[in-house]
Amino acid sequence: MQSLSWQQQLAQAIKTPEELLDYVGLEADSIGYSNKAIQKFPIRVPHNFANRIKHNDPNDPILRQIFPYLAEDDDIPAYVNDPLAENNFQPVQGLLHKYRSRVLSITTGACAIHCRYCFRRHFPYQEATSYKKHWEHGLDYIKNDHSIDEVILSGGDPLVLSDNRLDELISSISGIQHIERIRIHTRIPVVLSNRLTETLIKKIISYGKTIIFVTHINHANELNEQVEISIKILHKFNIMVLNQSVLLKGINDSANTLISLSKKLVEFNIIPYYLHMLDPVSGAAHYDVSIDKARQIIAQMQATVSGYLVPKLVREEIGMPGKTPMIN
Ligand SMILES: *Cc1c(COP(=O)(O)O)cnc(C)c1O
Ligand code: SF4
Repeated sequence: MQSLSWQQQLAQAIKTPEELLDYVGLEADSIGYSNKAIQKFPIRVPHNFANRIKHNDPNDPILRQIFPYLAEDDDIPAYVNDPLAENNFQPVQGLLHKYRSRVLSITTGACAIHCRYCFRRHFPYQEATSYKKHWEHGLDYIKNDHSIDEVILSGGDPLVLSDNRLDELISSISGIQHIERIRIHTRIPVVLSNRLTETLIKKIISYGKTIIFVTHINHANELNEQVEISIKILHKFNIMVLNQSVLLKGINDSANTLISLSKKLVEFNIIPYYLHMLDPVSGAAHYDVSIDKARQIIAQMQATVSGYLVPKLVREEIGMPGKTPMIN
């Protein structure tokens, strides 16, 4: 599998429930899935990621992140399509300016994997693909606001863009003097590790801005040797790597699981940055962990391990000046 290019791996990713069940050795009768949910948000899992799922284990923590359970059909009023009301914070389509000093750019609607708990699962993909059209306006907006010193490339996943497109984005942002840092939010190092190459990273750093990567990893089982190799490329070029996770029921909702994850991250020289409360997006209520339980987990971590192994527990709240810390 490793000899396939990342584009081939993406093209050949698992896309049907039958194929997924077969791959992990489970019967549809024993687990059940939502046909309705996958019409709107299809399954997408590269084999190379799926091979970290334990065979014949319906509770595997990686399987649970990507499996369209029947519970996705549950209609729960507090869970909505756009829980963060992101449409209200876009001065230019595809550019989110919610917090001072930084803007977040939705570079693409596409991802290398479809995470079922994702708050962007109802994202209007057609609009996102027209994003390129709005980029020049986005750049002008950034140029005209000198209070912005950081641009975050997000999505979707910015690393599903071609090397050329990424180069265009990063060189154009780097041309703006008041931008000091460019941050890349991506799940690619853990999902399609061989997408990160020295050639690409050399290009990205060549414009002289500080580059920061923020990975998205929820469980220690996601980390393997291939991931380590891709992270080492980033470190070779002195790029800081942080990780954000989402607190997910049945996946990582215990202090021990999160401690194992943090230890493994630190072994890979990745700093545990944020632990996000789930955003109340429709179809994801079955992943919710209560705030009380979340606080208990963090308290238990704090009482057990080094401070840098404890990520900041935060929630995204509409109208706040930054992520809201859940622990004071
Ligand atoms: C999370 C987020 C950021 C980055 O927040 P940090 O606390 O700096 O990591 C920026 N913009 C938006 C819209 C975000 O959702
Ligand atoms: S990779 Fe990120 S944006 Fe894409 S589905 Fe997963 S959580 Fe959502």
